[in-house]
Amino acid sequence: MISAIDLHCHSTASDGSLSPSELVGKAAAVGIKHLALTDHDTTAGVPEATRAAQQHGIQLIPGVEISAHWQKRTLHIVGLNIDPSANALHTGLANAAKQRDQRAEKMAAKLEKCGVDKALDNARKLANGGQLTRTHFARVLVDGGYCKDMQQAFKKYLGAGKPAFVKAEWAALDEVISWIHAAGGKAVLAHPHKYGMTANWRRLTLTAFREAGGDAMEVCCGNSTANDIATASKAAMQHGLAGSIGSDFHGHGQPWLQLGRVQPLPKNIPPVWQTFLSTE
Ligand code: AMP
Ligand code: MN
Ligand code: MN
Ligand code: MN
Repeated sequence: MISAIDLHCHSTASDGSLSPSELVGKAAAVGIKHLALTDHDTTAGVPEATRAAQQHGIQLIPGVEISAHWQKRTLHIVGLNIDPSANALHTGLANAAKQRDQRAEKMAAKLEKCGVDKALDNARKLANGGQLTRTHFARVLVDGGYCKDMQQAFKKYLGAGKPAFVKAEWAALDEVISWIHAAGGKAVLAHPHKYGMTANWRRLTLTAFREAGGDAMEVCCGNSTANDIATASKAAMQHGLAGSIGSDFHGHGQPWLQLGRVQPLPKNIPPVWQTFLSTE
């Protein structure tokens, strides 16, 4: 089953494998009518995606997935229906990009010590001007024969606490939410099950997110089980958050996440898209 709405996916502007127009073409082909492009810390793909969406007759919602700092953790905050030219957002994302470059240099130095040559050059080549992410380094490790797949690259080198891990100085959660609001968008906590948290931490995170002005949480993600959806629905209700749905499609390396393959939002959860989905 393909959903007509998919509000979380990536293009070559960050760590996806399809260009913004290829991504939109694929979305139209599988039957998606409303797609949000949410690249990591950049809106660079939005203009091309918007043009492609006009050609295919589908709605492109400008979005972004921002890395945020909260309690020594990194949270991913999806901004939906944002104005990419808004000042605070623009400046905030420029700083995040700088963080990404600096972190990449440090990660490459650590990989060098582990015997991996030219990691930065190779990752930059793969990113081809897009945001440099750990996904690019994972691909370098796989392509170079250091790891058998991306999962192993994170497990052995790139994950938290592993030899090539470097902490990035992301902006604070409340700042990130304020950029999204100043850009006219909705702030959505991405994939609440993917932070490796206990139920108690998840509750604290959602409380802090709501207190910082967060609007919604992803209730249905590409890999959600029925149990995940039930837990997330309950949490959304308890914390007074609206719900969003998104596949988190990247393309390469994660064949289990498909564009548009996401469960519908349970009927009792108010959809975050109420105010911005076009209805013709
Ligand atoms: P970054 O924002 O540069 O730290 O990179 C985070 C990205 O790495 C995520 O958005 C995922 O796309 C990817 N990622 C994280 N963990 C894994 C994993 N275990 N296997 C494959 N990709 C992962
Ligand atoms: Mn990613
Ligand atoms: Mn994410
Ligand atoms: Mn994502």
